[in-house]
Amino acid sequence: MKQFNVPIIYRSPLIAAIKNKRKALDKLKKPATPSGRDFSPTLLDFGPFHIYLARHFGFCYGVENAIDIAFRTIEENPGKRIFLLSEMIHNPQVNADLLEKGVQFLQDTHGKQVIPFESLTKEDVVIIPAFGTTLAIEKKLEEIGIPANKYDTTCPFVEKVWNRSEQIAEKNYTVIVHGKPTHEETRATFSHASAHTPTVIVNDMAEAGALALYITGEKSAELFETEFAGKFSAGFDVTRDLERIGVVNQTTMLASHTQEISDFLKLVMLKKYNLNDQTIEERFADTRDTLCYATNDNQSAVYGMLETEADLAIVVGGYNSSNTSHLVELCAAKLPTYFINNETKIIAADTIQHYDCHTRSENITKHFLPGKKPVKILMTSGASCPDALVEGVIEKLKTIFSVNKPVSELLEQLNTPA
Ligand code: SF4
Repeated sequence: MKQFNVPIIYRSPLIAAIKNKRKALDKLKKPATPSGRDFSPTLLDFGPFHIYLARHFGFCYGVENAIDIAFRTIEENPGKRIFLLSEMIHNPQVNADLLEKGVQFLQDTHGKQVIPFESLTKEDVVIIPAFGTTLAIEKKLEEIGIPANKYDTTCPFVEKVWNRSEQIAEKNYTVIVHGKPTHEETRATFSHASAHTPTVIVNDMAEAGALALYITGEKSAELFETEFAGKFSAGFDVTRDLERIGVVNQTTMLASHTQEISDFLKLVMLKKYNLNDQTIEERFADTRDTLCYATNDNQSAVYGMLETEADLAIVVGGYNSSNTSHLVELCAAKLPTYFINNETKIIAADTIQHYDCHTRSENITKHFLPGKKPVKILMTSGASCPDALVEGVIEKLKTIFSVNKPVSELLEQLNTPA
């Protein structure tokens, strides 16, 4: 995989050594799963506490690419005004570092304008974030004289979804985007897909179920505009545009949810049009190849990690990070899970301040560590979270448990659970 120039402050010597050692160990082992992939966690035995570190976590290709381009752009453009369309990635530290270097955000993460486009000139630099952007914004920038593709950090895996949408559009399929309607990436994907074909967004299985009632004709077409307000492309004709469909996703959604939605809608089409496996393509496009590798790996690594019996899980990442919140969701279904954005949230041995994705606020939990030894902790982080933050959390736990084990000794003992 391509190597990126990411500021050293985001790197972690400990995590890098663990990842490298794990890669080397993997090469010596027999395949752990029928697919040949090993998603078991890495055991870090600190004595009074054990950490089971997910097999895959942290910066993905798209995030490293975006950071590399953004920091290089700052270096190469001294004296120029540099803007980011919105947060480059959903990590508060990275965004704060960019702000400190003088970068300004044009929009907030929900697309609300913070700095008007009218105040830009063609001398300004505008960086497109990893999520990509809409065709309308690209046009706006071009009209000002700012080339939208010059400092474009759009992840190639997001572009792959756009390309696949365009391909199925050419075959007259309507695109159904499984994503969060206000998320930057879903807005961008919706914009690119709807330039080629009717497009509609479903947020979850409930909305896929609601859409299915229009496919089968069980619900009257008049209700569609209200029920899916703001989620369908201009001119969408619900009686005509749901006869041939394909599902793509916001790359950071739960892969299993996208699969469920896709399987469900496929079944609806099979029944409605009396199709079979040989004829299904007449009405339903195969889009399985659009899932992002990092989302798949990080989520598979959490499933692998959850096979280990543990007392709690800690997930590190930005609170508005979609991919991180899905990792939290998977862990929380099995054991007490604490979503924190850095080590300062572990306030003391018995107190943690952590984010609740449902109430969208931080809670304080007392006695989060059980009184037994060793305490077993599962740990992972999102695709936009620097490894340095994960190391910070491990160091904080070492302080709390009064452990002074050097990293070199830990790496010697590095082993995976049976
Ligand atoms: S999670 Fe996947 S699609 Fe999103 S930035 Fe990372 S590699 Fe790209």
